[in-house]
Amino acid sequence: MSNKAIFLDRDDTLIEDLGYINHPDQVKLLDGVDKSLIELKAMGYKLIVVSNQSGVARGIVSEEVLGEIHDRLKQLLAEKGAPLDRIYYCPYHPDGVIEKYRKESDWRKPKPGMLLAAAKEMDIDLTQSWMIGNSVRDVEAGLQAGCKTILTNDVSHSEQHKLGEPNPDYRAVNIKEAVNIIKKHHRSAGVSPVQNQPLPQTITKPPPQTAEEQPQPQPAKPKTPPVEQKISSSSIVGNRTEQLLDSILEQLKSMRRSDMFGEFSTTRFLAGVWQTVVWFCLLISMWFLMYPTKQDNSVLIALGFALLFQVMALTFYIMHGRK
Ligand SMILES: [Mg+2]
Repeated sequence: MSNKAIFLDRDDTLIEDLGYINHPDQVKLLDGVDKSLIELKAMGYKLIVVSNQSGVARGIVSEEVLGEIHDRLKQLLAEKGAPLDRIYYCPYHPDGVIEKYRKESDWRKPKPGMLLAAAKEMDIDLTQSWMIGNSVRDVEAGLQAGCKTILTNDVSHSEQHKLGEPNPDYRAVNIKEAVNIIKKHHRSAGVSPVQNQPLPQTITKPPPQTAEEQPQPQPAKPKTPPVEQKISSSSIVGNRTEQLLDSILEQLKSMRRSDMFGEFSTTRFLAGVWQTVVWFCLLISMWFLMYPTKQDNSVLIALGFALLFQVMALTFYIMHGRK
């Protein structure tokens, strides 16, 4: 029987991304990684890191030091009870300064070479496996290998999806939420999971955008009546408003998810306090409105305070997000 695996990106998925790490002491596990990997291990998954390491080709770190960095990563996780099964990395880059490593490679994500090699060497059923990473390259490699994919660290995912980019199967604010998604998928095994993003239609690479490769002309449409043409400008405004509301909603959703899978912080606590005060002010203003001898001034004052405290709550939320 084949194994199943979780393929994990390294930088900004398991450890802090400091640009190019070139010393074992720089390896710092991200919050919640150890517990998340323990849970994945308990679910029967092999834990395999797949990482682009073009720093080798660029002369920033040698393969020897990279080996020490990875030994440190394995040691840190083993000490926490979440040992990795294997680490694959790609040292190559076409713009590398070291000739030995200056080349294209099927192992370099978004190509799926590392995942395919692991599948062959470790008898892994890729259709039962997942790729978790914080970049579109991770998603594309996972999709091309036939895995399910989760894009993490995606708090700012309200930005519009870029043309040609592959859609992950799921999005998560961090690895803790990613694990919850996988657990949910297990619970509903055999049933289509409820997804927070649509499944990708294809797993092909985005086509190059050249002038010759414009989208195919659409079949001729019946002529639009003049009345509908007049409406078009207002419908554009409507669409923009809809997009704006969608992006606000997405941002609020990601804030809530960050709260669920984040750690305690003073700024977030203060944001919560001020948010509670806002609700209190709104309740008072409603009470003033329903009061038989209501005074408009009292309602306005209560609403004014609600607005002021809402600004303070948002300020603390933003400060928390920028930490
Ligand atoms: Mg990364």
